[in-house]
Amino acid sequence: MTTTIAALATPPVSGALGIIRISGPDAVALAQTVFFPSGGAPLDRRGSHRAVLGRISIDGRVIDEGFCVLMRAPKSYTGEDVAELQMHGSLLVLNAVLSALWKNGAAPARAGEFTRRAFLNGKLNLSQAEAVRDLIAAQTLDAAYNAAGQISGVIEKRYARLYDTLSGLLAHFQACADYPEEDLPPSAAEETLETLAGIIAELQALLQSYEKGRAQTEGIRCAIIGKPNVGKSTLLNALTGMDRAIVSPEPGTTRDTIEEAVLLGGVLLRLTDCAGLRETDDPIENKGVERARLAAERAALLFVVLDASKPLDGEDRAALDYASERPAVVVLNKSDLPRAVETEMLEAAFLHVCPVSALTGAGIDHIESTVRRIFDSRMIYDGSVLAGARQAEAVRATLDASREAEDALRRGVTPDAVMAELERAMNALDELTGKRMSEDMLDKIFADFCVGK
Ligand code: GDP
Repeated sequence: MTTTIAALATPPVSGALGIIRISGPDAVALAQTVFFPSGGAPLDRRGSHRAVLGRISIDGRVIDEGFCVLMRAPKSYTGEDVAELQMHGSLLVLNAVLSALWKNGAAPARAGEFTRRAFLNGKLNLSQAEAVRDLIAAQTLDAAYNAAGQISGVIEKRYARLYDTLSGLLAHFQACADYPEEDLPPSAAEETLETLAGIIAELQALLQSYEKGRAQTEGIRCAIIGKPNVGKSTLLNALTGMDRAIVSPEPGTTRDTIEEAVLLGGVLLRLTDCAGLRETDDPIENKGVERARLAAERAALLFVVLDASKPLDGEDRAALDYASERPAVVVLNKSDLPRAVETEMLEAAFLHVCPVSALTGAGIDHIESTVRRIFDSRMIYDGSVLAGARQAEAVRATLDASREAEDALRRGVTPDAVMAELERAMNALDELTGKRMSEDMLDKIFADFCVGK
């Protein structure tokens, strides 16, 4: 028998409002044990999807006032009867009401259990359920827009189209296997190969979107390089708005690499301040140099910082050389001082040159818009970006099977071999959307959700 679950749907802190969510066959009856409408008909005779004003009582004593919204099955998030209590946000009171509900027969909801029920009741498929999790966890607006697009089913439609195409091919081969005496016209084989090539290209594009999307949702690795004392730490502080790196007038004080996540122009960057990339006799500093090299090698974008108030020297040129073949922004720092650097040469060699003063903050907005320009043009976050390692794994399996099918077809083996691969590809897609899914897998997926979702 299905239990009725209850949990706090808002964060477990005190705030203006708090929401308790109840879902299951006894949701309305349980809500009625603590919620009493301020007039008119009792709660169970009120319409669905309407806010009803009333008092919240525990053991006959009024403890709060608020609204109760009933969402009758199947037109609710979970597909079950749902009651939501919207109350004042006292954590103490919310917990007391929850305890009363549990005492009256509700079960505490596990992490993600509401969404899990929504999935089991066919309100959401698995990739949409995962998108709900991603929307809540999004660290950038782009990631949130993408997750919202996925909830509304943008990527789902692509999966469904791929599935239909694969099942069309399978039906075709089944017909061939049933009537082996009828030779396939050569044009039919060509057509099938073309269709498969289309499927493979689409799956590859999805995987590529995953790699790029992941970089942007988890943060793009960036390194701040430049010789000591040009203002790298000051720049990092200006970008993060915190005194994270030690700023000192002595060269070579940034002895270690420091990584800092910063949302710049809507793009999440993982910035590493690299110690001056130069050899020294100091063993501690040399270790820092090594780490800086590594961070710079792994970076997808380099910020080359120069002290624009002094003529460029060999060390500056070495940093510029290092960055010349890679995505880079040249930061002409200390622009509050008289300029001693020729900018024309730099602008000819680099696409992005930003004069700033890390000290005063002037020009930081220019860096922001530059970062936005560099990364914005690459993707459209409308829900078509594949998100989550699990989905990527399933797409990879679909791609692998589709390639095997293509290979079998080219080699001219029996339709059976092609059909087996097509079926494998379709099974992988079924796992992706959750049509085939074990309890264990579901446990694993929903464990990442928060309670109350
Ligand atoms: P790093 O070794 O490259 O990390 O350089 P720091 O960030 O430690 O800065 C070295 C010195 O330059 C410090 O005294 C900073 O206050 C100074 N500095 C950094 N940025 C600016 C700037 O934009 N203008 C001026 N006038 N001084 C700066």
